Amino acid sequence: MKKSKPIKPHDERTRMDAEHVFQFDCGPHVPCFTECCQDVTIVLTPYDVLRLKNALDTPSDQFLDRYTVIIPKEKHLIPMVVLRMNENDKRCPFVSGKGCAVYADRPWPCRMYPLDMNDDGTFSLITDASRCKGLNEKKTHRISNWLVEQGVPMYDEMNHLFSEITAPLQAQELDIDNPKIFQMTFMALYNLNTFRKFVFESSFMSRFEMDDLTIEKLKRSDVELLKFSFDWVKFGLFGQKTLRVRESAIPKEDASNG
Ligand code: SF4
Ligand code: SF4
Repeated sequence: MKKSKPIKPHDERTRMDAEHVFQFDCGPHVPCFTECCQDVTIVLTPYDVLRLKNALDTPSDQFLDRYTVIIPKEKHLIPMVVLRMNENDKRCPFVSGKGCAVYADRPWPCRMYPLDMNDDGTFSLITDASRCKGLNEKKTHRISNWLVEQGVPMYDEMNHLFSEITAPLQAQELDIDNPKIFQMTFMALYNLNTFRKFVFESSFMSRFEMDDLTIEKLKRSDVELLKFSFDWVKFGLFGQKTLRVRESAIPKEDASNG
């Protein structure tokens, strides 16, 4: 296999493909250890919230209240959910002298750092060696291997499903003025514990066809529940046939019209 030359720290703007090799190491031995966990804007996806609230063993509504800032975006159905930094020192609430307390469940941007993914699927360094001293370290990584080591593929899979909702929403200006639709969409995507109650403790199951296997999977797994919430939002917003309404739940007039 052809060997790629490691990307040097000054190559911040270089676009790299997944087979590129870059120099980087991080840990308590670097002089800037945990400095990048301060005064930073980390936008959370629904899957980031799922992982963090489970890591902290905290219901999603309490997690959102305590650890996030929800920023509405004009003419956008889905607000931006940002990890709330501490008021006093602007540090991430999960950082300590030993590093990240939620390392196994850290959000996507923290896994990717110091890389970022470009729209064309290539990668670039998001910072330089003056700020991220780990880029001066000798250890090298092939990007494709490094992404797997960082646990990125599962996040990419879930974020891709999320983008199937956000991308069409960005492409069209939705004429929605019913606040209930905003609330229900946000609840399904970000407030999974409440969405769970909505599915299992309301008339939901009498309105939608759900087989036993699906019900069992949703009961056991938050990941399956989140995938189901994506389907429900696609059904509700875009009319996609991701769910089937029970015949008994279709108003008689509609049913007779086929
Ligand atoms: S979640 Fe962990 S890695 Fe990300 S900013 Fe906070 S402490 Fe740092
Ligand atoms: S700035 Fe770079 S080297 Fe320093 S702690 Fe963050 S990722 Fe590690």
